[in-house]
Amino acid sequence: MKNAVADRMNLLHTESAFQILAKANALEAQGKSIIHLEIGQPDFKTPRNIIEAACKAMNEGKTGYTPTPGIPLLRETIAAYCESYKGVKVSPEEIVVVPGGKPVMFFAMLMLVQPGDEVICPNPGFPIYESVVRFAGGKPVAMPLLEKNNFSVDLEQLKRDINEKTKLIILNNPGNPTGGMIRSEDIIAIADMIRGKGIYVLSDEIYDRIIFEEKPLSIASLPDMKDWTIILDGFSKTYAMTGWRLGYGVMNKELAQHMSMLMVNSASCASSITQWAAVEALAGPQDAVTEMVEAFRKRRDYLIEALNGIDGINCAAPGGAFYAFPNIASFGIPSAEFSNRLLDEAGIAAAWGTAFGSFGEGFIRFSYANSLENLKIAVERLDTFCRGLK
Ligand code: PLP
Repeated sequence: MKNAVADRMNLLHTESAFQILAKANALEAQGKSIIHLEIGQPDFKTPRNIIEAACKAMNEGKTGYTPTPGIPLLRETIAAYCESYKGVKVSPEEIVVVPGGKPVMFFAMLMLVQPGDEVICPNPGFPIYESVVRFAGGKPVAMPLLEKNNFSVDLEQLKRDINEKTKLIILNNPGNPTGGMIRSEDIIAIADMIRGKGIYVLSDEIYDRIIFEEKPLSIASLPDMKDWTIILDGFSKTYAMTGWRLGYGVMNKELAQHMSMLMVNSASCASSITQWAAVEALAGPQDAVTEMVEAFRKRRDYLIEALNGIDGINCAAPGGAFYAFPNIASFGIPSAEFSNRLLDEAGIAAAWGTAFGSFGEGFIRFSYANSLENLKIAVERLDTFCRGLK
């Protein structure tokens, strides 16, 4: 009998956070109290001015297909934003608007990776990177992001891992799941290491507005790096627009044409309504973003101090995003078991470290996209849970 689906489907993996959410929701439906710290989406509503821009677009009948790489005004607005915020001077033709940040990853791999190519992926890192590298026939090579290096890149290790098969390096700054940042001098060192070698970078900058300390440096802003970098960015996190599905890639014109070809063959274009709303998101007032980042900062300050106050837990202070990645190795149980028991016994939903790669063992991820009140309850429950393990 023939297999029902193509073999390549076995190469894809999923995001465990969604599985944990499903289990947590099922427990909640049974009447159990759950604090949700598993899912990576802001707990804020999309700012009012953006919603109004979407309604206006609909009322004006802007509801048809758009040009495949995005409406011209949005691409111009993104180009201006890239120059002002990221320090990367680009033209609108170098921008492709797609339905979310994730398609940029998927399309970048389909576009660049050949069987046998190696792609250096952050580990712990966003699990979809490795999944789509494999799907494209490539080999993911782990770039260990260790606690002892503040979850940043080990430059010596990276130098050893680069070889003639290396096609692409993925950087995610600030990073999911650790909230760690790559220091500007290290970004400069990475650029120096690969410049002129025919190696591309996928620079995932989706969290680059949610930062508490140093502003991250985009590798594309460094000399001769722009043409070798695909910037991934979008609206999901910064503007609390996860359900709107809008992101974009920034890349040289030739690559942009290839990415547009993948769009023609898949989505045709991103939602017209969402695109008009996105123009307002970038060009309109930014107060809501400032307020959201301030709220995340307060929660981070509270949570990190509280976690470090629990016997057996150690947690580095994240420089950005809305994740904490505490070390729970002292309890001597695998992180997946810790996370499952935490949900069953303490009603806290959190992702286990190995959901983000083997170097995540000994850690769990808390997404602090939840109220300060709920974080306080979670810390009390976690404290009691950890005392029970000792
Ligand atoms: N990149 C990273 C590191 C993420 O954590 C996420 C979402 O969780 C994305 C990209 C994708 O974002 P989007 O929802 O816009 O597809």
